[in-house]
Amino acid sequence: MSSIFWFLTKNAPASDVPCVRPETSPIPDYLNAVLEKARSNDGGAPAAYIETLANADTSKMAVALAMVDGKVYSAGDDKIEFSIQSISKAFVYALAIEDAGLPRVLEKIGVEPSGDRFNELSLEKGTNRPMNPMINAGAITAHSLVVGPNSTVEERTDRILKALSKLAGRELHVDEEVYEAELKDANRNMAIGYMLKAAGIISCDPRVAVTGYIRQCSINVNVSDLAMMSAVLCNAGVHPVTGERIIPQLSVRQVLSVMTTCGMYDSAGDWVSRVGIPAKSGVAGGIIGTLPGQVGIAAFSPKLDERGNSVRGVDICEQLSLDMGLHMMDVSQLASATVQLSVATIVAGKNDPNHPHCNRDVVVFKLRGAVRFAGAERLSRAIARELGEPNPNDPGSGGHADACTVVFSFRDAYSLSSAARRIIHEDVNRLLSDGKSVVIIDPSRVLEWDIKINPKFPHVVENETEALDYIGGIGCRAVTQEDSW
Ligand code: GLU
Repeated sequence: MSSIFWFLTKNAPASDVPCVRPETSPIPDYLNAVLEKARSNDGGAPAAYIETLANADTSKMAVALAMVDGKVYSAGDDKIEFSIQSISKAFVYALAIEDAGLPRVLEKIGVEPSGDRFNELSLEKGTNRPMNPMINAGAITAHSLVVGPNSTVEERTDRILKALSKLAGRELHVDEEVYEAELKDANRNMAIGYMLKAAGIISCDPRVAVTGYIRQCSINVNVSDLAMMSAVLCNAGVHPVTGERIIPQLSVRQVLSVMTTCGMYDSAGDWVSRVGIPAKSGVAGGIIGTLPGQVGIAAFSPKLDERGNSVRGVDICEQLSLDMGLHMMDVSQLASATVQLSVATIVAGKNDPNHPHCNRDVVVFKLRGAVRFAGAERLSRAIARELGEPNPNDPGSGGHADACTVVFSFRDAYSLSSAARRIIHEDVNRLLSDGKSVVIIDPSRVLEWDIKINPKFPHVVENETEALDYIGGIGCRAVTQEDSW
């Protein structure tokens, strides 16, 4: 079997399955297997322009996954610390948005991939802005927007260190050796700083902006820190462990967008098509991958390819994406799968044989999984088709216009997006205004029906039995024509 995740696949021949205790998770074994496979790639070289990085132990490698509920898996040299370098750019961009506001940030930094080297002395024609916040010119500008325009190196570094520590869930520190080594030979970044000043993009002393930026890049992390930081982005800005909102949701979207288009230096297109996960890499050999709503990934190995991305880190991410189906363009859930229709006929119980709903139909819409715009649109269409006027061009439509009750079951719905919720609220309101009886099965209250906003309200119950008792009287039964409910 080609996949190295063979022991989790259905098709693995029984004889191949190693004897493992069933209560141990296979994920750590899998991560070790991914590392071993990546180890065979000996290409690349560590970053040469920062002495400390040039002398890194190139045999070290590690990987970590942080889930959106805070569970972290790690393997390899997961305790080894390395400088965060350019990975900090994603998080400092979020801080710049928080401190200066998105309009000001967009006025100063573009969002277009540049296709240039990360340390190119380049500005966008016409606007004079750096092309994006992931190249050095944009990152130095973002750094200068943190705290305030006249802040000191210490004030900005302090703000960034505290914010990154909160994301990682532990106190992080600047690696002074890396900082000194980079500052010693910072001519290129200083040149970028002066270029930004001359173009009117930064207002502070360029040496202050560049020195602070280099301190920001010298903050030490390990793979678990990075995976957790990434998981905060995956979790829409809420820390998976503390539950604290750290980054506003709109900033998360902005950060993930530029990570997708500009995060992997000048190989963004190659990365998106091969791995398909918003990502950012750094010259110390770290990479984060951030799959919204699912998993924060971090990999580390010091040898870089000619574009500055960790050779083994890229292999690790590619393998994870392939084995786990993490590519963001994989079509994993079709909208149609989230809505299911059935029709039940009420059979009155012994105690109430003359119940007015006896022998009448109940239309049941079940929603499953994460319901978003397209799922809610299908539901609206299904309601209109089943309960609306018959359409001569659509045989079978309007078949249940006289149903006594409409039931919506959210028992298997994991979440509703706010757009889906608004559409479904409107559907329910329209049915109620039409005089229909509506029953909602919603044990975890995903519909968030608010009577302050919706003056009419449906009957909300915990389960199917309660729904039946309400519709047909205690003890009634329902004969389902198309499905069970
Ligand atoms: N400190 C590095 C620089 O600006 C960060 C580069 C990187 O990781 O891409 O040169």
